[in-house]
Amino acid sequence: MAELGFIGLGIMGKPMAGHLLAAGHTVHVCDLVSEPVEELCSKGAVGCGCCREIAQKSDIIFIMVPDTPDVEAVLFGKDSVAEGLKPGSIVVDMSSISPIATKEFAKKLGALGVETLDAPVSGGQVGAEKATLSIMVGGQPEVFEQIKPYFELMGKNIVHVGGNGDGQTCKVANQIVVALTIEAVGEALLFASKAGANPAKVREALLGGFAQSRILELHGERMIRRSFDPGFRVRLHQKDLNLALQAARNLGVSLPNTATAQELFNAVAAHGGSELDHSAMVLALETLADYKVSK
Ligand code: NAD
Repeated sequence: MAELGFIGLGIMGKPMAGHLLAAGHTVHVCDLVSEPVEELCSKGAVGCGCCREIAQKSDIIFIMVPDTPDVEAVLFGKDSVAEGLKPGSIVVDMSSISPIATKEFAKKLGALGVETLDAPVSGGQVGAEKATLSIMVGGQPEVFEQIKPYFELMGKNIVHVGGNGDGQTCKVANQIVVALTIEAVGEALLFASKAGANPAKVREALLGGFAQSRILELHGERMIRRSFDPGFRVRLHQKDLNLALQAARNLGVSLPNTATAQELFNAVAAHGGSELDHSAMVLALETLADYKVSK
């Protein structure tokens, strides 16, 4: 069996690495924070001090860190994956980062004799914990087939989208849909609440009709219960919409509602909400309306 490595054990990475471990694989783990490393080691993982050590000991290296500069540091910084890689290893980046940087990283690693996949996910903390993530993959088809059994331990809807970077492009598209749907759910619940209807009952009724969505179900409930612990942090969604808006500018595509959603996230962050769950976008709408969905 291949030796596995997992770098980045946060909200998503810890349960994902846990599933690989529970399936009987040897998993070498590391994070900047010691607590999740210790927790996984108590379940049989092998703790490593840095990314170089992970690369030296692993045939397949999974990465789940926040942003493009974090992936760059993991791959090419001090004590990085690139310093310890064995030719023939495979690097699988499951973080959500820039599609353009992803293509550059794949080229640089290719020059070291290493194949890469970008495999960002959707489904949030619940999907990571229940191993029901959607996984959107970019890279060579034969490498995808080789890694697919590991993806199946972490997710359900696993799609090979295209070449390196195409998984990340797909994830950016996903984040546009999610942000705009959160905004729509927030507006609808705020409107209904100020009109005098019980927002919990409105949500319940809408869940049976054409407006039904996972976001109405989960994020709508958070808005009503005022439960904004992450989940998926506002600052990470700002990062994703930034990728969307920058790429749209380069492509000459107008994304007016993505821009509005980003401004609402900016307003939440300005009020100290960067670390809240992204359902907290409703707080910006509430400020504009001077009214709360649920009191
Ligand atoms: P998180 O902030 O909870 O965890 C990231 C982890 O990476 C932290 O434990 C951090 O210490 C570690 N890390 C950062 N730099 C590192 C380095 N150089 N070496 C080792 N460890 C390092 O973030 P998260 O919510 O788990 O998200 C991770 C990625 O998954 C992001 O790209 C995010 O956009 C994406 N994502 C998150 C969710 C979600 O619901 N949380 C859903 C889908 C996708």
